Amino acid sequence: MEQRVEIAEITEHVACMICGQQQVEGIHICDEFICEACEREIVHTDVRDAKYPFFIHRMKQMFQSKNA
Ligand SMILES: [Zn+2]
Repeated sequence: MEQRVEIAEITEHVACMICGQQQVEGIHICDEFICEACEREIVHTDVRDAKYPFFIHRMKQMFQSKNA
């Protein structure tokens, strides 16, 4: 019975800070969550890509809100 509760907590869906989608697979950075798909996209996004500033902007917001 106790194990069941633990499993429920682990598989709890968390909203991704980039796309806002609730995902289970992903990485946690400073209490924020980035889903696997977005993490992969960030890694593969070229610095000159139009999406790159967006990712940086989102991450800056994230770190600023933590320091405030
Ligand atoms: Zn995402």
